Amino acid sequence: MTRTMINLEVMSKRGVLDDDDRKLLDKERNGWNGERLVGEVLQKVLDGRWFTSNILLEHDQNYIQLDHVIITRQRVIILEVKNHRHDYEVRSGKWYFQNGREVSNPLNQLERAKSILAHWLQRRKIYLQVHGYIVWTGDSHIFGLQPDDAIIKMTKLARIANELQVSDELFPQLHEVFLTDQLKTNPFYHHRAAGQLKNGFNCPSCYCLSLNGRKQQMKCIDCRTTFSISEVIYTNMIYYCSVHNVHEFSIRCLAEFFGDYFTVRTLQLYIRSYIEAQRLIKINRTTYRLPETIDTMIKEHLLSNN
Ligand SMILES: [Zn+2]
Repeated sequence: MTRTMINLEVMSKRGVLDDDDRKLLDKERNGWNGERLVGEVLQKVLDGRWFTSNILLEHDQNYIQLDHVIITRQRVIILEVKNHRHDYEVRSGKWYFQNGREVSNPLNQLERAKSILAHWLQRRKIYLQVHGYIVWTGDSHIFGLQPDDAIIKMTKLARIANELQVSDELFPQLHEVFLTDQLKTNPFYHHRAAGQLKNGFNCPSCYCLSLNGRKQQMKCIDCRTTFSISEVIYTNMIYYCSVHNVHEFSIRCLAEFFGDYFTVRTLQLYIRSYIEAQRLIKINRTTYRLPETIDTMIKEHLLSNN
């Protein structure tokens, strides 16, 4: 899931999206569904280990975003997920929509990602072969593919993952290198102004503004999930920063975003607990900032819950 998708989900429940944003949200959801499906297969086949997802790297000002990376004994394998609804036709290495319009060849993007990742690893004195596949998750068709084109259907993914020789020795270290050396801020992110938003709390699971309850727990009347109040406030604090593209905030602005559900005094109690747990940093009596970049906060806090 991308920050753009989270923002649009939050904003769609707090106001009205224009047509472009609605289309973008649809596209983001579609992409996320594909990535999630692949993640679920990897989780099952690879026992939840030996792979890492959603990694953003930079090498000599070339940026790549990797959906999934599998680490085996001799190689690193990139899985680039495509969840497209259109059929494609491939002729002499060029890709076309059915209406004849040419589109960029995803295999070229994959080659570029492989090359950048190989250089990125070499700079860290890691000499592993880099392989890659496009995982085609939608039910659309590609006509004219060659047998050795690196595109696999979902149905083949489990078998391929099963045959990999994963390695206990390599994984923890390399995984660590990916996590520590990945970019903390996404250079591909393009911020959209939030406009006028309804106040309230977005459900951390379905984003609806339909949470109820005031004592320790809140329950979403749409998706029926229960959350601790502390979790709801913290998550919505990240939503606030993300949709407004701010890293610091005053308690007054946060209280406006939430509406009059809790008193400022109650909010202050929760904020104090986050500061004590080092999940938030105090700037002065009324201003606070996130301990990490918004992208890192989303990745570590919001995505780890899903
Ligand atoms: Zn919900």
